[in-house]
Amino acid sequence: MRLVRLASIPSVDRLLQDPRVATAVVSHGRGRVVDELRALLDGERAAIKAGAVGLASDAARIDTLLARLEVAARPSMRRVFNLSGTVLHTNLGRALLPPEAAAAAAAAMSQACNLEYDLDAGERGERDAHVEAALCRHTGAEAATVVNNNAAAVFLVLHTLAHGREVPVSRGELIEIGGAFRMPEIMQSAGCRLREVGTTNRTHLEDFAAAIGEQTAALMKVHTSNYAVVGFSAAVPEGELAALAHAHGLPFIVDLGSGTLVDLQRYGLPAEATPMASLRAGADLVLFSGDKLLGGPQAGIIVGRRVLVERLRRSPVKRALRLGKGSIAALAAVLRLYDRPDTLPQTLPTLRLLARPAGEIRAMAERLLPGVRRFFGEEASVEIADCQSQIGSGSLPVDRLPSAALQVVPAAGTKRSGSAPEALARKLRALPVPVIGRVHAGMLWLDLRCLEDEAAFLDQLR
Ligand SMILES: *Cc1c(COP(=O)(O)O)cnc(C)c1O
Repeated sequence: MRLVRLASIPSVDRLLQDPRVATAVVSHGRGRVVDELRALLDGERAAIKAGAVGLASDAARIDTLLARLEVAARPSMRRVFNLSGTVLHTNLGRALLPPEAAAAAAAAMSQACNLEYDLDAGERGERDAHVEAALCRHTGAEAATVVNNNAAAVFLVLHTLAHGREVPVSRGELIEIGGAFRMPEIMQSAGCRLREVGTTNRTHLEDFAAAIGEQTAALMKVHTSNYAVVGFSAAVPEGELAALAHAHGLPFIVDLGSGTLVDLQRYGLPAEATPMASLRAGADLVLFSGDKLLGGPQAGIIVGRRVLVERLRRSPVKRALRLGKGSIAALAAVLRLYDRPDTLPQTLPTLRLLARPAGEIRAMAERLLPGVRRFFGEEASVEIADCQSQIGSGSLPVDRLPSAALQVVPAAGTKRSGSAPEALARKLRALPVPVIGRVHAGMLWLDLRCLEDEAAFLDQLR
């Protein structure tokens, strides 16, 4: 019996004759279709050997084949709804580009462009030229250059200015950023020696003064982006560090992490350090990210003294870390929006989401409540709750923004801790546009601050 059934499994060639399979060959390529067919028929053979009785029809086999091909063809990187409560979520892609920046990136990548070509002179140009003037205008710097991300900026600056020499850094600023960016290790891989000064909670100017010697290449301050030292603490103001560095003929470098080009307080947000303030205090180079509070593409931005920026440009490491043309085009478009700071809360998605009033978010929660309740049915109860959004990506680590969430509580009878809220979270992640919430205190929280496409969200719950 088993042999009979094995013999009646069709050949790959026979299934390839089917018109539906022929169409799949056109859209997916013959190699992919043959591989999936083989895997499907092998699976059927194995099932029969293991004692399965039924035989699939060709129509059912082809249905399975087409479904598998669709799943395999789905792009790995997909849109999601970020209801995690963290606006600049590194794992979810950080800042969202405004439409004009995304369009500029697409145009730069799909057509030839003057990326490194001087149209007046008709000769080789400099890719920084597309953003340097705007960066200088918005920060007050003499010169600017851009690389792949801020970690690359830190690496380039240390490798160029301090290779084989020492850089004193306060023990209170030896940060680790998520994903293995640790200041001591970056310094080591850039070939310079970290000279730790002060203590974890207090570092004074004299600590830096005592650390300066023959081997010192620069003084550096690192913004403690993702944590805060509170209580009995002291750090040296930038102005004093700059003066000390300059008295010894050394450059003063500030790794600002996020950095923002406008005073966030004018939009009702907590104050964040700006490159302008660091430069005014005497910093020679200031380094910050393009896709944190700036709200642009992934990039590392370096602004400061022209002689130092020129040295960075000449480094072979700059070539290895250079920013792609799509990101340069997007950054230029985002910087243009900063010419009109009054309209930024409308034009820049990052600021729009950060400045969104809690009342507006709560009103949306009320509109969504019935649909989300229907979706979970008997599995969970759903209520509206106040919550606190985080800014994320190491920007303003202790500040929270009042927001509203849908709080999804697993139905009584299911465990209030452990797997029950995880199962609810998994169900939302399995939707066509996965919804990413946050499991906390035995419940699933859907912070609605970053939800803008309400209709698409509700549609897929039906
Ligand atoms: C985020 C951050 C970095 C790394 O920036 P990326 O753009 O993520 O590479 C470096 N230093 C500080 C202080 C940061 O906050």
